[in-house]
Amino acid sequence: MNIIMLGAQGTGKGTVAGLISKETGFPQISTGDIFRQNIKEKTELGVEADKYISQGNLVPDEITVPMVKNRLTEDDAINGAILDGFPRTIEQAQKLDEILAAEGKKVDLVINLTTPKDEIIERMLTRRVCPKCKATFNTKLHPPKVEGVCDDCGGALVQRDDDSNPEAIRRRLEIYEEKTSPLVDYYTQKGVIKTEEISLSINRMGPDVAKDMVEYIKN
Ligand code: AMP
Repeated sequence: MNIIMLGAQGTGKGTVAGLISKETGFPQISTGDIFRQNIKEKTELGVEADKYISQGNLVPDEITVPMVKNRLTEDDAINGAILDGFPRTIEQAQKLDEILAAEGKKVDLVINLTTPKDEIIERMLTRRVCPKCKATFNTKLHPPKVEGVCDDCGGALVQRDDDSNPEAIRRRLEIYEEKTSPLVDYYTQKGVIKTEEISLSINRMGPDVAKDMVEYIKN
């Protein structure tokens, strides 16, 4: 089953994708994580991608699309994957349709997460990530058991550079509205989207949504 996580930055895509991945065995493929790994290792791709990411801009399709295409051909993704952070534009969605169609596959489910904007900004500022195993925490909503230490692998938690830069946060949310939000209509027309609100105001957080989605996927 090929699943896409849709939703603005800070809605909880990574958290929900990680939990669904643990329960279903489909790998979580996060384009942001792949870029950050390459930046850390200073690969050619990482050096190029960092020029865009540090400013909160999208990395060009010439770099992003082949990277996703290659990742989808790896063994663990043969029966399906959870794409987290891709596609982010209509053009990327069309290219993904082509990539999957060539293998006789399609997008089976799009999980669209929504969260009120004031909560989103707060969540981005309080998000901490584990560079080693990619787990995500939040100093207020979902703190690790030991401050600054990953519950899953013991790695040292960090704040993403683009989460500590208010100008990059603003730019990323602007790009989401302009380029990514049209995907809601795109996938609604295909009849594969499920919209789920994650918000403190309704006392429904990532693990609640993940639990419901796992049930939906398994049935
Ligand atoms: P994320 O971890 O999903 O918030 O992604 C972090 C950054 O990586 C984004 O702000 C973009 O600069 C870049 N990025 C991630 N996914 C994509 C994509 N599908 N297309 C272009 N750029 C991307």
